[in-house]
Amino acid sequence: MRALIKPNDCRHLAAVPDDGYPEVMRELRFPASLALAGGRAAAFSCTMALLGRLLLPAWVTLSRGQSCSSSASLEGAARTRSYWRYLRRLVRGAPQPPYTRVCQVGDPVLRTVAAPVEPKQLAGPELQRLVEQLVQVMRRRGCVGLSAPQLGVPLQVLVLEFPDRLFRAFSPRLRELRQMEPFPLRVLVNPSLRVLDSRLVTFPEGCESVAGFLACVPRFQAVQISGLDPKGEPVVWSASGWTARIIQHEMDHLHGCLFIDKMDSGTFTNLHWMEVND
Ligand code: ZN
Repeated sequence: MRALIKPNDCRHLAAVPDDGYPEVMRELRFPASLALAGGRAAAFSCTMALLGRLLLPAWVTLSRGQSCSSSASLEGAARTRSYWRYLRRLVRGAPQPPYTRVCQVGDPVLRTVAAPVEPKQLAGPELQRLVEQLVQVMRRRGCVGLSAPQLGVPLQVLVLEFPDRLFRAFSPRLRELRQMEPFPLRVLVNPSLRVLDSRLVTFPEGCESVAGFLACVPRFQAVQISGLDPKGEPVVWSASGWTARIIQHEMDHLHGCLFIDKMDSGTFTNLHWMEVND
């Protein structure tokens, strides 16, 4: 979940253009789709795509994505795949999960129900690597929570952290209003959620997987999350206010649910709407 949300971010409405977005994103997110598809069909598509990319300049492949879109920002995103990046991919191959970047809405992995981590994987090197990558990306992005599906791995693993540095970035008034408290790094494997206080509290929130947007989302006032740490030891954590919101947001990711599914749609906001008007 995004950490910094300004007090007035939710004041204005924003229109969402219907511009073939999922189709464009399928083009751009090819490796993740492949990881999910599996089987011969996927291998065949992979081979064909690779052949296509070997035979055609990068811009030819990408221009298909651009033609689907009437949105300037999406065209911009498609154009940013440089020839250098194309060459690097030829040499290194496609990136594999866990990615070093956060998957964006449209990627099927974000709509997948995450599988539990097998007991034999606990304390293993793969889980360790996944957790390290989650923590690294969360800190680099300056967000307060990240789930394994957001790095392309459909497993029930979460990392959460609200460090003092981010906490102090909010005004004292907002900290009090949103009941914010900093907390140290928490890692949860195979977590489950219990509602302790079902009163709904609505505040704006954003998501690293819906980059550039936010909306007001109702969340339960207090919850308890229980699961395992990466070594298999039980973890139980009760939280209220903003911390409970972060937990609920990240738990939703494990069920293929994004904040846009629960938001007050009239408050959906593009963070850059004012720049467009300048
Ligand atoms: Zn999120």
